[in-house]
Amino acid sequence: MHGKILIIDPIATNRIVLKVKLSAAHYDVHQAKTIQQALETIVAEVPDVIMTAAELPDGSAVDLGAAVKRLIAGRDIPMIAIEHDNNYARRLHLLAAGFDDVLSKPLDDTLTLARVRSLVRVSNSASEWRMRDDTSRALGLAEGAALFERTPCVTLISSDMIANAKWAHKLQKELGSKITSAKPEDDLTPQSKSGNSHVPDVFILHLQPNAPAEMLRVLADIRTHALTRHSGVLIVQPEADPNLSAQALDLGANDIVTHEFLADEIALRVNSLVKRKHIADQLRATVRTGLEAAVCDPLTGLHNRRYAMPHLTRIAETASRSGKPFAVMLADMDFFKRINDVYGHAAGDAVLVQTAERLRENLRAVDMVARIGGEEFLIVMPGVELPNARLTAQRLCSVIGETPFSLPNQAGDLDATISIGLAIGNRASVERFGLSSVAPGLLDQADKALYRAKESGRNQVTLSRPAA
Ligand code: GH3
Ligand code: MG
Ligand code: MG
Repeated sequence: MHGKILIIDPIATNRIVLKVKLSAAHYDVHQAKTIQQALETIVAEVPDVIMTAAELPDGSAVDLGAAVKRLIAGRDIPMIAIEHDNNYARRLHLLAAGFDDVLSKPLDDTLTLARVRSLVRVSNSASEWRMRDDTSRALGLAEGAALFERTPCVTLISSDMIANAKWAHKLQKELGSKITSAKPEDDLTPQSKSGNSHVPDVFILHLQPNAPAEMLRVLADIRTHALTRHSGVLIVQPEADPNLSAQALDLGANDIVTHEFLADEIALRVNSLVKRKHIADQLRATVRTGLEAAVCDPLTGLHNRRYAMPHLTRIAETASRSGKPFAVMLADMDFFKRINDVYGHAAGDAVLVQTAERLRENLRAVDMVARIGGEEFLIVMPGVELPNARLTAQRLCSVIGETPFSLPNQAGDLDATISIGLAIGNRASVERFGLSSVAPGLLDQADKALYRAKESGRNQVTLSRPAA
């Protein structure tokens, strides 16, 4: 399943038409007819995305939105309202009430599904960060410093300099913050790592049908650069092209407008992206400041076992609710004692530091890498199935084994390899081990698999055998 969608509509045929489309795209679809039913389903199922009709028997979509935001389970869930026709005033009203998007009938299937995919991603990353925050609280760690509110920093990118200047001027008036204009060929990546003050909170990209490739490249750059990967991206695409819209959303755009640039609407959308980014920044800051001292390994900067085990328990708990599997990998350097013996302990340390960097760089932001023993690393990847987990583990083996490690003091370099034992956790693992033992249980499975990787010659990935 790709995610859980809750459809709210009093009219059965509307629900069924949408359900058929979403089910065909492998979503797990739940339905409700009223606000009351919707709230009950949200608490029980915690959907990834909510799609609602504008009018419901016990209130409007705006009433529903307000009630959902009051629920702890609902506070981060992205919401889409579906309108009968394209009405600008009502769209503004819904966006102002916290809806992430307003689609109007007839729905374009390609665009609708791309929009759902992108919002499921938003929902997943919000809940991963919430979960990390909960983990730090469970460990009794201090809260991070609250980030002070500041006017958002927005960069508008278009190859049409006339449109760019006009839009920037209008938007500046709406938002009250300075808008930076840029062309797609400009170097947009912030240079300094010190201080994030110049990193845009939101990029607005003007996507035109004549040169889409260049703008999609800009989008991909924003998403991969370490300093901008958490920035919001809003696409403005005045000439409708659903396939191009879908491509932009799949590349990581957070929001898209497929009609003319209307400054008050854009301002609402920018503000909602900024709000989501602030919450995520704040959660990351809490996790960072609270955890660093107590649960980080001073040599590599990775998490240590104290953080890793409760985090693994949380991942298992979430997976048992969502039904999505997750990967647990135990990675152990091969013949590490020999490296210490031949090159010295400092060289061994340098290899550990570089290994940690390579592992981190080759995993997603939501994955966790911890150093849980001398030369042993635990990796937990939420929401991945076996084929992808195995490919990732194999890639990690390659990035360690195929590039030599540099020795301290320019003393040359050395080759090192790593072996990985892989176990897949899911709802069944929680049922089998129980929540309190699922983390050590899965670690043990990964450890047994690791043992076999060592026995079979090292520098390889071995999968945990299913329980007899
Ligand atoms: P195998 O391929 O079977 O895993 O062999 P190995 O030599 O890696 O395994 P073993 O467990 O025998 O040795 C691990 C070594 O890692 C022993 C220890 O000296 C070294 N080690 C543990 N922690 C550190 C550390 O923080 N720094 C350095 N330099 N070495 C460490
Ligand atoms: Mg070891
Ligand atoms: Mg070893």
